[in-house]
Amino acid sequence: MDQQKIDIKNIPVHVEVHKPDSSHSGHYNPRDRIYVRAVKGLHQAIRRYMGFVFMGLFMLLPWLQYDGHQAILLDITEQKFNIFALTLWPQDFTILAWLFIIAAYALFFVTAFYGRVWCGYLCPQSVWTFIFIWFEEKIQGTRNQRIKLDNDAWSVSKFFKKAATHFCWLAFSLLTALIFVGYFTPVGPLFIQFFTFEASFWAVVSVLFFTLCTYGNAGWMREIMCTHICPYARFQSAMFDKDTFTVTYDEKRGENRGPRSRKDKDYKEKGLGDCIDCNLCVQVCPTGIDIRNGLQYECINCGACIDACDDTMSKMGYPPGLISYTTEHSLNGKPTRVLRPKLLGYMLVLVAVCVAFAWTLYSRVPLEMNIIRDRGELYRETNEGLVENTYTLSISNKSQHTVQFDLSVAGSESFTWIGPQQVSISAGETRSVPISLALDPYSTEQRSLDIRFTVQQADNPDVKLAQSTTFFVGR
Ligand code: SF4
Ligand code: SF4
Repeated sequence: MDQQKIDIKNIPVHVEVHKPDSSHSGHYNPRDRIYVRAVKGLHQAIRRYMGFVFMGLFMLLPWLQYDGHQAILLDITEQKFNIFALTLWPQDFTILAWLFIIAAYALFFVTAFYGRVWCGYLCPQSVWTFIFIWFEEKIQGTRNQRIKLDNDAWSVSKFFKKAATHFCWLAFSLLTALIFVGYFTPVGPLFIQFFTFEASFWAVVSVLFFTLCTYGNAGWMREIMCTHICPYARFQSAMFDKDTFTVTYDEKRGENRGPRSRKDKDYKEKGLGDCIDCNLCVQVCPTGIDIRNGLQYECINCGACIDACDDTMSKMGYPPGLISYTTEHSLNGKPTRVLRPKLLGYMLVLVAVCVAFAWTLYSRVPLEMNIIRDRGELYRETNEGLVENTYTLSISNKSQHTVQFDLSVAGSESFTWIGPQQVSISAGETRSVPISLALDPYSTEQRSLDIRFTVQQADNPDVKLAQSTTFFVGR
């Protein structure tokens, strides 16, 4: 055989990684703790309210009751997910798959439009980290006080402040873990059993595991999770383009940076831009970067630096927006195209997937049927001269209640039904119903007939399922 050699070339790949520049801040080192300075402003208010709503929903949802059961209960041991009136079984995996696809495309769409705002405003990692920083601030004081406290020698006061902080972090982590596990096992009994030491071994292990995860993530790991572990940070740039709104420093307006007096109105003649190099944008940044160094993958688009800088600008009497959500096109004086092919593409796919999901939910029948033919013999002749076929109807009730089902068969001939024509099946139960059909073999010329079994909810004709099989006449 003629073997062809393919030339292999070494292609040098140059990957430019933009490292945070600490030359101006002097406080960031990957191994150092970041002391986040509190900041007030529009974006931080939005972030706080969104976080509050998210946290409220997370804490309250498992306590809701619906029709006598926990409204949201993802029961893994029973392999059924209750979500209000809907119960999903392993066979309904496609519905969950649709949900994941919707979440993925919603994330792509939002990222292409407004960068990593999901990370900055709603990602649980950020929401919990900001709550933990809030505890830190209330107990240990402002950023400067916290730095001083950490540099001070150990004292009784330092010990109590540190102990109180870790106690609050652990207590909040425990609450988070109990609520989280409460999505998978009845939440009320879980709380009672956990604190009365009656919870099962696996419930205790799960709660302790998630307590440690929350404490470690929001208390210690913090931005390391966003910058080094979360894969989203790495592939987000694939969704960015020159019309994506990201937090950006206006270099043309800000440089040359440098301090000056508030009264100094001639700073531009001295070659200075609007950045007074106060460093506040760096001190408020939860990932410890300096946005003045350009777009960096560590930036979670939280807007804290915008609020800090706008505050400085207003104190200096300069217009706001030196740091803002803007696009590369806008910075270069070109118009921003909001409705562009990439965004429209994500939107169309998102709408299509949502429609498919809604249709799957709407057309879902809380019922399943499998027809199993008697494997021993295809047909048998009775003493009365009739031909009999035997089937087992395996019927699953996927609703949340016991349901009475009517069974019937349809075909070109009229069959004699031998077996129950009505069955009552409990919620989540699968029942095997043996059925025989008998036919006078001389009533048809054919050797086999197509027939259709129907199972239908007795008090709701809309819930029904039909399946075809074959009746063998023989001869
Ligand atoms: S650079 Fe600004 S927007 Fe980005 S993470 Fe830091 S504070 Fe948030
Ligand atoms: S907050 Fe604004 S003025 Fe202060 S250093 Fe940052 S960009 Fe410059």
